[in-house]
Amino acid sequence: MRKKIVAGNWKMNLLDEEVINYVVDFNSKKGEIESEVEIIIFPASLYLDTMISMPDWDIKIGAQNCSQHKSGAFTGEISAEMLRDFDYDCENLHYCLVGHSERRAYFNETNTILAQKVDRLLECELKPIYCCGEELEQRKSESHFEVVKSQIIEGLFHLDEKQILNLVIAYEPVWAIGTGETATSKQAQEMHQFIRETLKEKYNEEVANSISILYGGSCKPSNAKELFSQPDIDGGLIGGASLEVDSFIQIINSI
Ligand code: PEP
Repeated sequence: MRKKIVAGNWKMNLLDEEVINYVVDFNSKKGEIESEVEIIIFPASLYLDTMISMPDWDIKIGAQNCSQHKSGAFTGEISAEMLRDFDYDCENLHYCLVGHSERRAYFNETNTILAQKVDRLLECELKPIYCCGEELEQRKSESHFEVVKSQIIEGLFHLDEKQILNLVIAYEPVWAIGTGETATSKQAQEMHQFIRETLKEKYNEEVANSISILYGGSCKPSNAKELFSQPDIDGGLIGGASLEVDSFIQIINSI
């Protein structure tokens, strides 16, 4: 049985007081959550501490980014080791996003750099959520399968069987992120199945069937159920709709 996950990527949103209000509101509505699902929230790194310091906060949290370097003169960066050190027993912080399309596009993160980030996280026993997805032009020119395949091969296929089982993949078509345009459940399922086939070719069926693959891209309460009902979609990575407690809980309950 693969793990079902719904994760909220807050990006560069919410200040300290808003984080506190969110947690209080979320905690008061936790009883409404009906699904057996792992919930993760990715706040801005500066507020990871605010979240885990809140009473009764037992939801997993993750970092949105880490450096590909172990340590050294990299001003402004946070290392995987620092993330681990922040919550040494991994009671709350287990995950880190890698390769979100905004990082690929605005910070020039290549598959090679992302492969290094994956290594740094695994060395520190943190779980990468490795994001992949094609741009609109690539879908239009029907090169989307090829693009996603090379993101997977170049970012992940240096890992051995044991290592790859410690990560989650998120398929996020770039044209659907923050645009209101969602991939149809058929388009999403097709790509998730393709990613699983790609994993099977490199590793084996057991590995391919064990890795959770999340969908991300304008997922909201109105379309989450349809997307999550697809056989190869194991949950979602939610941007905008995770910033509001009620819509996030509705998406969680769509699993
Ligand atoms: C994201 O940023 O990972 C994302 C999926 O954003 P949105 O849900 O807003 O499209």
